[in-house]
Amino acid sequence: MLSLLLVLFGVASGSRADSNLSAYADFNSSTGGRLVFGTPFARACFENAGPGVREMYDAASCSGVQSDYTDEATRIDSLGAYINTQWETCQKTGEQCLLDATDPTNALAYSPPAVCSQGSVPPVGLEIASANDVVLAFNFARNRSLKVVVKNTGHDYKGRSSGPDTLALWTRGLQGISINEAFVPQGCPTSTTPVIGVTMGAGVTADVAVAFAEANNITIPTGADPTVGLVGGYTQGGGHSKTSNTMGLAVDRVIEFNVVTSSGEHLVANACQNADLFFALRGGGGGTFGVVLNLTTRALPATAVSAAVVEVTPTPSNVAALLDFMVNNSLQLAQDGWGGAFAPTQGLLSYANPLLNETAAKESVASLQALATSLGGIFIYEYLPTYGAYFSTFGIDPVPTAVPVAQSSRLVPSSLFETEDGRAKLLSALTEGFTALPSSAIFANTPFLAKDPGGTSVHSAWRDSLWHVVLSAGWSFNSSLAQREAVYQSLEDGIAPLRAITPDAAYTNEGDVYEPNWEETFWGSNYAELLSIKNKYDPDHLLDCWQCVGWLGQSDSRYKCYLPPPS
Ligand SMILES: Cc1cc2nc3c(=O)[nH]c(=O)nc-3n(C[C@H](O)[C@H](O)[C@H](O)COP(=O)(O)OP(=O)(O)OC[C@H]3O[C@@H](n4cnc5c(N)ncnc54)[C@H](O)[C@@H]3O)c2cc1C
Repeated sequence: MLSLLLVLFGVASGSRADSNLSAYADFNSSTGGRLVFGTPFARACFENAGPGVREMYDAASCSGVQSDYTDEATRIDSLGAYINTQWETCQKTGEQCLLDATDPTNALAYSPPAVCSQGSVPPVGLEIASANDVVLAFNFARNRSLKVVVKNTGHDYKGRSSGPDTLALWTRGLQGISINEAFVPQGCPTSTTPVIGVTMGAGVTADVAVAFAEANNITIPTGADPTVGLVGGYTQGGGHSKTSNTMGLAVDRVIEFNVVTSSGEHLVANACQNADLFFALRGGGGGTFGVVLNLTTRALPATAVSAAVVEVTPTPSNVAALLDFMVNNSLQLAQDGWGGAFAPTQGLLSYANPLLNETAAKESVASLQALATSLGGIFIYEYLPTYGAYFSTFGIDPVPTAVPVAQSSRLVPSSLFETEDGRAKLLSALTEGFTALPSSAIFANTPFLAKDPGGTSVHSAWRDSLWHVVLSAGWSFNSSLAQREAVYQSLEDGIAPLRAITPDAAYTNEGDVYEPNWEETFWGSNYAELLSIKNKYDPDHLLDCWQCVGWLGQSDSRYKCYLPPPS
């Protein structure tokens, strides 16, 4: 370890370096030797490296990196890797250490004169194994005026789990998962009705939770990506699923959090104790109120799920026909219990229904089937015995990995679907947005039929909305600054027609990096209360992230790699 620290802090002579070295050595030994370097994922492929970048060029390791470059499961286990790779880079200066995701062997990306730069990858991280680790990390950061980030899987779309020169509190290793058939939140009266509770460590991903649910004959709904962390950003920001229509959001089912605050308190937050923190963690966003070590979610009974899948060739007329059909029929589909993802410009739709029996479900999508057939496409209906069977067969959506992805989104109220005028306006706004940004998608994943349990801090618009529309765009590994700026600008332009016809509401986890009125847009009337809870539990703002509750703003040095907002 000593040699590792010598490498980390350069020459060990001189009083400043000596004290740095011994402070990190003490910190490392007090945390059981779990301090790790945040080395950019593709480091081994570059002969040239910029200041502060650790490790060396290594041809053998490079070929491993190249074969796993777009593998999400590999990325989530590397401190130096993120799913949306602009958050590994410094977007403003172009400093990066990326390969060409379309061809990781493309030497243009990594051969000299290309240089591997640290970008926004945290140079050091602590693998969190206990509450005490979090306390020690916060104290260490506070004493040395270090900025911290909380990182789990690195799926964040807004860069909230990376940052230049930060100390990462890396929670991915907290992997426990267990079931309690009669869970009563700690501190609640003994008269409280017990529920089946599943307690998951902070690093548990969707695939692990689904497999666990299958093995225990229960349902734990998840998003459409097996490697998203359920306990980190997903649940703390809301957490939608193809079955949210009937099963609600992840925040609706969570019943307890185990959390360490920046002041070093190890707290249990539930309806009966620290209820304000419980409210904040149910939608107020990750990386803001404390480090969650685990949460307990209410398990749902095992249930069969119907799948309906459409694939048509995305000719302009097919895209228009599909979009028209979905705008005009989605209210009925939602009332029948359907939800899911729809990418009109790719001619793809993948829906789920845990509500209807097989006969009723088939009937409910008969007109969708007729449309798919008339467009010369494929229609699949299948009745799966469990959520897990559904998830592994149809529940996972193909997503771009290891490329920069930027988004802008809007929650679309069900009222717009109720009138001819509303549907016409929606169709026009979507046509404009999807024509300009064809990699975009519609998620019918709002809790439309599910009962609002109360006590969550997500924007109340989730409860009245039918769709979460996400416009997306990206750029390539060798983009110019002007190209990156143009992508962000295209999102502002593309979302404008939708903004004009919808309330000011969007999903914080899949939202616009430059959302202009972000406090209102992401949290609505909950923002003021969330801010006071933030100030109570993190008064020094040791935790801070981009457009998170209490955000310090772009001028804070940890945001130096973000581009200025588009006009
Ligand atoms: C490919 C892809 C598919 C997605 N699919 C869905 C979907 O179907 N449904 C959906 O709702 N969302 C989806 N998302 C969005 C996802 O919910 C967010 O990206 C979420 O922030 C990921 O959380 P994470 O902990 O895995 O990632 P990270 O990037 O590691 O963390 C995200 C945020 O949570 C904070 N955080 C992480 N762990 C903790 C912790 N233990 N305590 C406190 N804060 C913590 C971080 O500081 C950061 O602010 C998807 C994202 C991607 C990239």
